[in-house]
Amino acid sequence: MLTSIHREMIAVALGDHFSTRALERISAANIHQDRIRGQIGHDEYHFDNNAFEKSYAYIEEQRLLTTSALRRQDVSSAWSAFGRLTHTAQDFYAHSNYVDLWLSRQPEGASRTPPDIDPVHPDLLHAEALRSGRIYPLELLSFIPLLKPLIMPLLPRDSHARMNLDSPARGPKFDYAFQAALKRTRIEFEQTTKDLPQDLFALFVDK
Ligand SMILES: [Zn+2]
Repeated sequence: MLTSIHREMIAVALGDHFSTRALERISAANIHQDRIRGQIGHDEYHFDNNAFEKSYAYIEEQRLLTTSALRRQDVSSAWSAFGRLTHTAQDFYAHSNYVDLWLSRQPEGASRTPPDIDPVHPDLLHAEALRSGRIYPLELLSFIPLLKPLIMPLLPRDSHARMNLDSPARGPKFDYAFQAALKRTRIEFEQTTKDLPQDLFALFVDK
């Protein structure tokens, strides 16, 4: 997703929970995952290339780093790890066909708005039809604006370029990905903090 979208989701989903400085640190670590070195060879940061198991493992690894840092009173490392965790969780909805699968399951004629989306439907999270976009080397050339219109038609349907819901420019399904990622960010916060003792929770939220 675009940097501005990740930032907005952190602010909206977690703004009531954390201090301003904590939010800033979480947000910075979140968007740092999209640096060039974080984009190449790190499918697990972004749920790219069907790396579902690696990405789920990465989320749990970052959750463990968050809580273990808090136990050492290292709140700065905890914010960074949690920021990285939220990036991966949010990218799931922008880089996979989860939104398509959820929409295809809605009853005929039912009108479902983006806030209706269930971000953790158990059947869909492990559906056989779940896919995420493949990064083809050719896609790198599409980052050059002048080349983009020439490259895009050459990229396969299962490419990240054709599948992503990274920005509103991708059409109406983006809003579903956005709302799902927003809800998922809140779920990840609950999941990460549910067993924290009160003093470590207070340290984490910095309020
Ligand atoms: Zn990403």
